[in-house]
Amino acid sequence: MFDLTGKVALVTGASRGLGRAMAIAFAAQGADVAVNYRGNRDAAGETVDAIRAAGRRAEIIQGDTSQGRDGCEAIVTAAIDAFGTVDILVNNAGITRDNLLMRMGAEEWDAVLSTNLSGPFWMTRAIARPMMKARSGRIINMSSAAGRMGNPGQANYAAAKAGLIGLTKTTARELASRGITCNAIAPGLIETDLTADLPEAAAEAITTLTPMGYAGSAEDVAAAAVYFASDEARYVTGQVIGVDGGMVMGS
Ligand code: NAD
Repeated sequence: MFDLTGKVALVTGASRGLGRAMAIAFAAQGADVAVNYRGNRDAAGETVDAIRAAGRRAEIIQGDTSQGRDGCEAIVTAAIDAFGTVDILVNNAGITRDNLLMRMGAEEWDAVLSTNLSGPFWMTRAIARPMMKARSGRIINMSSAAGRMGNPGQANYAAAKAGLIGLTKTTARELASRGITCNAIAPGLIETDLTADLPEAAAEAITTLTPMGYAGSAEDVAAAAVYFASDEARYVTGQVIGVDGGMVMGS
């Protein structure tokens, strides 16, 4: 089940956190991985080492997904040049710039929207043509429980992650006939560097909303990504799966 042998995955923001865990999980299932990172080459190198230790091929692809069409095309082109194809794209790179609505400035709004929403759009634009030619592909977008239910202090982040769900569903509808699926994962509170700085009271408030009562792990999220990436998920598209301990229960 969920054998990814012979597949190539491109994971954005894969130098740490959920991106790294997904890259390693794909490799464990047999995939080769293009490891995109923006700034920390050493950390990206650690992800690559872990993938190679699992006996799979990994290459580092530097690039900033918030840099619009040209920046994202450069990342996709570099991955295809290195591996010959990309079968699985994970739009994982994301940032937070939290502030209350009344205090949120243009820089905070723009930075989060350009990274968390425009980045996945331009990455999808760039990968769509080669995937359409191949008549197969898997696109996985990292949304968030905040995008499904809102979160005080995260107007920018919640709006971007909700927008990403709209992008996911539209991509799914437009590309289904070409054998390409597009799905989203909406994690709740997961222990990574992104959430390490969360004030204790905020983390407690989130776990109170979580029926499971504790934060998830990166591996919990990676397991959902492996499923969406697999051949077994061929008939599943336009879906949002909450890996959130039951925080959001959609119908
Ligand atoms: P993280 O901060 O540990 O990792 C994010 C990675 O993305 C970092 O390596 C960072 O350098 C990279 N990145 C940021 N901007 C980039 C850009 N413009 N171009 C390329 N890379 C860039 O965060 P994480 O917890 O691993 O989160 C990964 C994704 O999951 C994000 O989209 C985040 O919003 C989402 N998410 C995380 C949680 C959680 O609880 N950790 C919950 C819901 C959603």
